[in-house]
Amino acid sequence: MKKLSLLGATGSIGVNVLNIVRQFPGRYEIAGLAAGRNVDLLCRQVEEFKPEIVSVIDEEHADKLAALLPDSWSGEIVYGTAGNIEVATCPDTIMTISAVVGAAGLLPTLAAVEAGKAIGLANKETLVVAGRLVMQKVEQYGVTLLPIDSEHSAVFQALEAGRKEDAAKIILTASGGPFLHRTKEALQNVTRAQALNHPNWSMGPKISIDSATMMNKGLEVIEARWLFDMVPRSIEVVVHPQSIVHSLVEYQDGSVIAQLGIPDMKVPIAYALSYPERMELDLPSLNLSQCGNLEFLAPDYDRFPALRLAFEALERGGVSCAVLNAANEVAVDAFLNNHIPFTRITAIVEETMARVDGSSDAVLNDLLEADKNARLTADELIGV
Ligand code: MG
Repeated sequence: MKKLSLLGATGSIGVNVLNIVRQFPGRYEIAGLAAGRNVDLLCRQVEEFKPEIVSVIDEEHADKLAALLPDSWSGEIVYGTAGNIEVATCPDTIMTISAVVGAAGLLPTLAAVEAGKAIGLANKETLVVAGRLVMQKVEQYGVTLLPIDSEHSAVFQALEAGRKEDAAKIILTASGGPFLHRTKEALQNVTRAQALNHPNWSMGPKISIDSATMMNKGLEVIEARWLFDMVPRSIEVVVHPQSIVHSLVEYQDGSVIAQLGIPDMKVPIAYALSYPERMELDLPSLNLSQCGNLEFLAPDYDRFPALRLAFEALERGGVSCAVLNAANEVAVDAFLNNHIPFTRITAIVEETMARVDGSSDAVLNDLLEADKNARLTADELIGV
């Protein structure tokens, strides 16, 4: 029985992790669950999976959860970042699944690495904000870090076909999101509902907006840079609207290995949980003859500047990627609350990057400080 801690239990990835745990009784057990404010769903998850420890965002929600839970459950309720860290490092846990949204995932994930837990990483911001530092710790503590992001799971699988030192290039595919064919002018007026309506993947609001601006792909380029230790010029992005080819690796002899499948997050989640085994999932098989044409297009950096900004942040180094990420989180939130138009999201990120100094990322505190300053600057630029 493999004991798991799950951070981000009530989000889209978290719910899918629990679907898989439910599907394979006797194989996995839940030691800890952490969520934000959705105490109703969390309560049902606690009743079903009976973790030893549960965390929520703050004391108010901890009280709400305590009032909902039956007396028969004897576990512990904790809250805040400290609570998330307790869940992530729960002594019985073998593997911690980090599926929190945003930079909030960094500290608990880092704590889990330092506690020697295997990591299933869906929280890409952990590597966007502190990739160098986190990967140093992963090596230092000898832990296994398995990607849950579908593109990175695909690259990870394609890298198993050869030797890492023979890999010449990583090619990340991007669906292009809901606005792939909109003109620059038409992008100005897109609504929240349109931006949330992703054509292929069912995801939470933050990542859906990131997909619509293509910042998601930018964040994934940064994630890939650290996860696979590839220099930025060896990472390419290709737009593939059908989301059937999940990503590719080109080896130095010109061979290109791709991973394909239907777009369902249960596949990369299950592979991270059971690696190196593969579990029999109850999913339809990929029917290529029914897929129709598979298209591959160059990304448009003019209509979707987010991707260019991510490469620029990597180029600048230091705390720049942390700044990019923090400004983006603030701007996406402002768009979701109808404070700024869609095209302003990446403009805010670019203006914040120009204002916040991209200095040293030598220690964790530099990154946390840059994250904080970038949030203040982005808030100021939004002016609400
Ligand atoms: Mg992805």
